Amino acid sequence: MKCPICSGELEGKEDGVHVGKEELAFSAFKCRKCGEELVFEEDFDSLMKNALDLKAKHHYSKQISYSGNSLILRIPRELAKLFSLKEGTNADISLGKEGFFVKLAKPRGSA
Ligand SMILES: [Zn+2]
Repeated sequence: MKCPICSGELEGKEDGVHVGKEELAFSAFKCRKCGEELVFEEDFDSLMKNALDLKAKHHYSKQISYSGNSLILRIPRELAKLFSLKEGTNADISLGKEGFFVKLAKPRGSA
């Protein structure tokens, strides 16, 4: 299996994220050449299912703060890791009955 970015060699690695006291394990691949990390769709889907199962158990309450003229909502580190968030990650915001929802783009490497 080759890296879709640079055609370098991919190596499998087991990764995991902590959500509260639970750990969710998942399989990922890392490119030896460019360092790109990939998660495949089936792994991503099962990770999402496990994350949804945990959703009922875990609740985050965060205060909104200012940065310049913008309001900032901080995302807990464990959620950021769970959803592979980093600076530049695209997110769509849509309105719902009780507030708004943030929908994240899937990480690269999953269809
Ligand atoms: Zn690569």
